[in-house]
Amino acid sequence: MSQAEKVLSGSLRTLREALDRKELTASELVEASLARMDRGKDLAAVVTRNDEKALRAAEEASRRIAAGKPRSVLDGIPVVLKHNIVEQGELATCSSRILENFVSPYDATVVERLRAAGAVFVGRANMDEFAMGSSTESSIYGPAHNPWDPTRSCGGSSGGSAAAVAAGFAPIALGSDTGGSIRQPASFCGVVGFKPSYGRISRWGLIAFASSLDQIGPFARTVSDCAAAFELMAGHDARDSTSLPEPAPKVCERLDGEVAGMTIGLPKEYFVEQGVSPGVLARVREAIAVLDKAGAKIVPVSLPHTTHTIATYYLVATAEASSNLARYDGVRYGRRAKDPVDLEDLYRRSRSEGFGAEVKRRILLGTYVLSAGYYDAYYGKAQRVRTLIRRDFELAFAQCDVILTPTAPETAFRLGEKSGDPLAMYLSDVYTVSANLAGLPALSLPCGLSDGLPVGLQLLGKPFDEASILRVGDAFERATPHHRLVPPGAAS
Ligand code: GLN
Repeated sequence: MSQAEKVLSGSLRTLREALDRKELTASELVEASLARMDRGKDLAAVVTRNDEKALRAAEEASRRIAAGKPRSVLDGIPVVLKHNIVEQGELATCSSRILENFVSPYDATVVERLRAAGAVFVGRANMDEFAMGSSTESSIYGPAHNPWDPTRSCGGSSGGSAAAVAAGFAPIALGSDTGGSIRQPASFCGVVGFKPSYGRISRWGLIAFASSLDQIGPFARTVSDCAAAFELMAGHDARDSTSLPEPAPKVCERLDGEVAGMTIGLPKEYFVEQGVSPGVLARVREAIAVLDKAGAKIVPVSLPHTTHTIATYYLVATAEASSNLARYDGVRYGRRAKDPVDLEDLYRRSRSEGFGAEVKRRILLGTYVLSAGYYDAYYGKAQRVRTLIRRDFELAFAQCDVILTPTAPETAFRLGEKSGDPLAMYLSDVYTVSANLAGLPALSLPCGLSDGLPVGLQLLGKPFDEASILRVGDAFERATPHHRLVPPGAAS
């Protein structure tokens, strides 16, 4: 492994220092990233690349840095994007046949902002088709593999982004989280994944799955790296009507390593023995002990509607998906069936050939729950239960600053283990979907290994209080070595 590749394994902060001290150039760093992706091709984490463009951007960054004028902490830093975040002139397929040849004519707001900050986009990451899934198996590129054990899933749907950071391809990757798609893969791959509050980061240029739940966020090796990327992306965007009117909050300056005086709530419904693997529970309990020792006050809280979260999510998310995906009709975007006999044949065949099984299942389910006669019984009721779930959090947050839970009930499962059983797959999201339903910021960070596989710790914050969860996460990292663990192959 070259010196530049070794540097690339570090955190954003160490990379920044190496670049600014001129120990290496941005071009060398980006070359190292491309070399690592070549060697790690079998993971199928990054599935499309434009090396020439990346090298050109890196040269420009190298010149700025040499002149002592880096644009931001991300200037010259390799960044991986999920395949549902559009980048001008590049494929944005959502891992779906229906968008197989779709090249975006514009940049997403996050891409525009990171590009302006000097970030170098080195590749586009594998994902579950249209972000529907928890394993990155439902993809036209084939499944992505977990760098800790390639026979296992890297989680999903942003599994490629998580695996890319874990395998040392780039210190930052972007994903999207509708029901856990940033946090669960972060937990499976032993990296940090951060879903900000709904509305915090513009979704202009994120290909929509479920619009009342979707949010973009970063993956990184440390909490402070996530915070740095977040600050550069967040803040109002007039092109997204759900974007908060405020500028990005200054979270980095709040990371002072202190948790003394903060109250951390443990929801009793999330700490039940059945359904959670004992290894996961053990690591999470150790993490609680660390925070307790650091001076945080640990209190029990209750989220009584937890048992309804999965059902509620899979009604709201499928309803919105069926509506969002209606635009793929073979006329305006992507794949078009050959030689249709009439318009209906064009629609029918373009959609049946273009969508995979899970996406079809969701469109059918969503269309059903929105249909006349069933709307009130299913969709309307799910919306009412969603309000109850949000109220649970309001009450719980009256007693604490941050809520702590496991991120996922288990460590990375084997590829193929759940792909034939949609319900088992849906249950992977049991701890993550409530943050999306309630619009809360949420963070997953590594808290150790169980049988050689990473375990993730989840921190949930009050709406728009990203700072508190980042602060607790950062303090936890300072007190523990878990974020420094790398997959067996990644160090060589
Ligand atoms: N696994 C969940 C689902 O399949 C969440 C996906 C996501 O967050 N994009 O819907």
